[in-house]
Amino acid sequence: MGLLEGKRAFIFGVANDKSIAWAIAQAFHQEGAKLAFSYSGESVAKRVIPLAESLGAELLIPCDVRNDAEIAQAFTVVKESWGGLDILIHSIAFAPKDELKGSFVNTTREGFATALDISAYSLIALAREAAPLMTGSDGSIITLTYYGGQKVFPNYNVMGVAKAALEMSVRYLAAAMGPDGIRVNAISAGPIKTLAAAGVGGFNQIAGHVAEKAPLRRNICQDEVAGAAVYLASPLARGVTGEVHFVDSGYNVIGL
Ligand code: NAP
Repeated sequence: MGLLEGKRAFIFGVANDKSIAWAIAQAFHQEGAKLAFSYSGESVAKRVIPLAESLGAELLIPCDVRNDAEIAQAFTVVKESWGGLDILIHSIAFAPKDELKGSFVNTTREGFATALDISAYSLIALAREAAPLMTGSDGSIITLTYYGGQKVFPNYNVMGVAKAALEMSVRYLAAAMGPDGIRVNAISAGPIKTLAAAGVGGFNQIAGHVAEKAPLRRNICQDEVAGAAVYLASPLARGVTGEVHFVDSGYNVIGL
């Protein structure tokens, strides 16, 4: 029997087969979870539908996380189809490309608002809608963050501020939702080549530096993040909430 046998998981953030959320979906499927996917627009649907179908996903629901009505509708579909929910994966981030290069001093008001809205506030909005559906004794909400939310990295800029807000939101949500048996955690992944990562200026330089300096002397891959997500979603982690769990070859422990 799988670690997630019969659990109902709603996964946000599959853009293509390189997405971290896709590796998580595959691992969840292997562990016996039932899957629902969201996608953010018709152009992505072409890529997401065949992936979702290949895992026998039961639900495929459009949802742009900037839109409260779409979020509410997405969870209504889940409620009507499944009657409840056990796991929510939030693997979403966005900042305008111009904000992810050059000096942080040039961050625009609009770019700041967009990055914080899509990359941090959306976790709160999704958690609020998920909560009434998580009526079992062990609901699990997991988001994806990066070390650039704790330390300064070149070009990560406003996304670092968004990740800091996201990580603090994890702690506040954990405190608010814990009494209802819902755990909220983040996985801080090392650099992985994905669509989102390609938007960060100098990504290859950062990945090269990690491979050289991290204790494990290599970068991580999507599957390794997925393994941590299985653990955090499963009863093995039933005593764990409010955590930022690093899957980064140990890079964050190095000072010099
Ligand atoms: P990805 O495949 O590009 O995934 C990002 C997802 O965010 C996409 O599915 C994208 O959908 C979605 N998204 C953006 N704006 C949205 C909106 N308004 N509404 C709904 N969905 C929206 O890249 P990824 O690397 O797997 O990123 C997943 C998460 O991991 C992000 O939070 C990222 O910051 C985090 N992370 C990544 C790395 C890395 O190095 N790759 C490291 C640490 C943490 P569309 O494409 O349809 O817009």
